[in-house]
Amino acid sequence: MDLYVVLGLPHEATESDIKRAYRRLARRFHPDINPGDRAAELRFRQILDAYETLMDPERRSRYDSGGSAVSDRRPSGFEGFDFSAHGLDPSATFGDLFADVLMDRGTGRLAPERGADLHQDIVLPFEEALSGATRALTVTRRESCRACAGSGQTRATAGTCVECEGSGAVRSVRGHMVFSRNCPSCLGSGQPRPRPCAPCGGLGQETRTEPVEVRIPPGVASGDRLRVAGKGNAGARGGVPGDLYVSVHVSPHPVFRREGDDLHVVVPVAIHEAALGARIDVETPEGAAKLRVPPGTQSGQRFRLRDRGAVSSRGGRRGDLIVEIRLMLPHVLDERSKELLREFGRINGESVREQR
Ligand SMILES: [Zn+2]
Ligand SMILES: [Zn+2]
Repeated sequence: MDLYVVLGLPHEATESDIKRAYRRLARRFHPDINPGDRAAELRFRQILDAYETLMDPERRSRYDSGGSAVSDRRPSGFEGFDFSAHGLDPSATFGDLFADVLMDRGTGRLAPERGADLHQDIVLPFEEALSGATRALTVTRRESCRACAGSGQTRATAGTCVECEGSGAVRSVRGHMVFSRNCPSCLGSGQPRPRPCAPCGGLGQETRTEPVEVRIPPGVASGDRLRVAGKGNAGARGGVPGDLYVSVHVSPHPVFRREGDDLHVVVPVAIHEAALGARIDVETPEGAAKLRVPPGTQSGQRFRLRDRGAVSSRGGRRGDLIVEIRLMLPHVLDERSKELLREFGRINGESVREQR
């Protein structure tokens, strides 16, 4: 029998290839997973033999050069599996073999897992986005179970395991083979197995709906995302919880339009104000402000009021308020105004066309 074929490997397989193949096959054929299955037992023994031979550089090179593949350990026909004789941790049951999928390579323990992040949307009136606010969101999240403090189990009770009478091991006889393995009831501890926590069904987590206060900093804009640390789902096996992300949507304002941290406002100006110059009222987020419009101001011309825009939510400089002038013609109804405008036209008509 070709040892490489047993492990499903090519002859140039590396040590880590061999380890990987062994782990993969052990998960399928380990006697603990296939109790009473003779074929699986024999198959596992071949896998173990191949693994041990190929992992030992000296034995592997002897095998590769056509030497004996027979392993040099004592025959074990009547003793069943004595795992320690195979250089395996005797407590290495299928649970351990599977566990390495989730295993933290550093500590050799089941790795804690961070909880998932949660996402919510929030709609804010324009003014509140500028001034900042506090909002209580209703969040449904997975939390550590209060009954079992997240362990998923009731606390271990005192006494001895009835299955193994406290020894932690059970022996079974199959044909002429005697097996000794960890007690499946207490997993080798010898104590009664802790029962799964009833309120959470052993998951260690429960779903809770609760208010979460979100502080909205002044100056947030549509598309901003706020992070509330630790208010996502609880982590597994002692892992840290995820975060809650709140996406901000700001309602439009009837007067102001936001562009970056600048605010834009359109202000109507009468023809005589634009022509002669004037001090006009401009609406700002903090109320009215005065703006001096110089003589000869054109429609569409813009003026900048420094630091009267939105507070930067990123902590930078405050934006400006950009005032756009819109010339409004009066509704001329009375004869006197009409006469003045005709006169105005006679004097200034040419001058307007020259400016183009
Ligand atoms: Zn619980
Ligand atoms: Zn037991």
